[in-house]
Amino acid sequence: MKPCWIGFGGNLGDVPAHWQQVLNRLEHDPQFANLRISSLYRSVPMGADAGDAFWNAVAEVESSLAPFDVLRKLQQWEAELGRVRTVRWGPRALDLDLLAYGDQTVNTPELVVPHVGLWYRRFVLDPWVEISPEWKHPAYGLTVRQFQDRLLGPRQLWLRGDWPADWHAQVFRQAGQRFPDLSCDLVEKVEFPATGIVADFVVSDRQDHGTEPTLRFSPDDDLPTVCQHVVDVLTAAYEPPERVPAA
Ligand code: ATP
Ligand code: CA
Ligand code: CA
Repeated sequence: MKPCWIGFGGNLGDVPAHWQQVLNRLEHDPQFANLRISSLYRSVPMGADAGDAFWNAVAEVESSLAPFDVLRKLQQWEAELGRVRTVRWGPRALDLDLLAYGDQTVNTPELVVPHVGLWYRRFVLDPWVEISPEWKHPAYGLTVRQFQDRLLGPRQLWLRGDWPADWHAQVFRQAGQRFPDLSCDLVEKVEFPATGIVADFVVSDRQDHGTEPTLRFSPDDDLPTVCQHVVDVLTAAYEPPERVPAA
């Protein structure tokens, strides 16, 4: 049995009821044991048209399944429980991500573990820190609590590497419009700041986690997409979720 952490989100329909059904399945499926859950949180949606406020939570559970089989099971539950009767496609009722699987690392097109977004998402870190603050990221050597600590305090965006001058000016402008109190700085390649969000500009096609929690952009990206992505990440990092007291 390996400890797994599962991230939950949704903003359509009776989301807490969907989460309860996921928890019932985790409790009764013989391939899972020792379930522990965080509180539920409400968070500001990430993305240009993500819709209403999200519900989020994290569960810890032990599993006898391999990482890919955990993913398949989560996808099966998403399909079964997330089906809501609406006339058109809309925001999903249920999103289940495999955040981590023990201290294992997986890097495939279908599955990346630990989840690539966990280090900048307060809606993942805040619930996670309730149940296992000491889990340590195998590639970055930082714990859940340390990732969270990096995002507390003043809002900071660091651009590192060889950003074209017109690109970094545009990224700083759009990020500053969204967060007027954000401090924006360029940093030397070697230095890794103790707090804030770091975005690297690199000419490299590496697909692994790297050794530091950073965003990675390259000359192949287009500027509007880069700006939108940075704003989305800042939103996840600097709009703290609200814990919903148990009913
Ligand atoms: P994000 O992954 O940034 O939170 P999302 O959850 O909205 O975005 P989805 O559309 O639910 O993204 O998933 C897209 C694909 O991500 C899935 O088809 C799956 O193969 C892949 N994936 C890679 N790593 C993971 C992981 N750790 N957990 C869940 N899905 C993953
Ligand atoms: Ca997700
Ligand atoms: Ca997902």
